[in-house]
Amino acid sequence: MALEEYAAKRKFGSTPEPAPGPTRGPGANYFCVQRHDATRLHYDFRLEIDGVLKSWAVPKGPTLDPALKHFAAHVEDHPVEYGGFEGTIPAGNYGAGSVMLWDRGTFDLLGGTPGAEQLARGDLKFRLHGEKLNGDFAIVLMKGRGKGNEWLLIKKRDSFAVPDWDVEAHAYSVLSGRTQEEIARNLPARQTKRETAGASDRVWATSPPAKRRAKAAPPSSAAAAPLKKKLQKSTWAA
Ligand code: MN
Repeated sequence: MALEEYAAKRKFGSTPEPAPGPTRGPGANYFCVQRHDATRLHYDFRLEIDGVLKSWAVPKGPTLDPALKHFAAHVEDHPVEYGGFEGTIPAGNYGAGSVMLWDRGTFDLLGGTPGAEQLARGDLKFRLHGEKLNGDFAIVLMKGRGKGNEWLLIKKRDSFAVPDWDVEAHAYSVLSGRTQEEIARNLPARQTKRETAGASDRVWATSPPAKRRAKAAPPSSAAAAPLKKKLQKSTWAA
């Protein structure tokens, strides 16, 4: 499997990212998207094809708006084990920064030909069954451009399409319910990711979830210094 580049870039003694494990057989059709706050914030879009996660870095993230075509840089294959990863890659390591498991699920290939064949052709069509992303998509190589790794991620028009959909309004983990900053601070998982998920209510430093307010006083922005201590004691960070 083509995981040599993945392994060569990482020192598994100093990053929590998984080392490549035993090779898996074909057909699980897992997909995931990780929100990665590295040197530059981006989303990593991954599809399981032939036992590895085929991967693209998408600076603007995926979208449900079919009017947009978001640039996606094809990057090295990742091991299937990476699809469950969330955590913080320490400074000094490749890709240092926090990684949120932003979406996950399965996909169906469309078009009647194997994934590897569609990839080689530079036009992969698939239907996502995720927690945030659903419906038909294509990822298409921009032929004759640059380094040959420049693709476009496109939502097809179907019942799951949402004009003006804002990816950043969904910036919480499907694994732990945490925000990017909570992951970076290594705070524990939330117990209520559904009811705390969303946009403005995820600005946890100023407005923790309403349900918990009775138990944990919301840290005010004026009390920024003792914030971390309060968060660790509060029940909504348990
Ligand atoms: Mn990345």
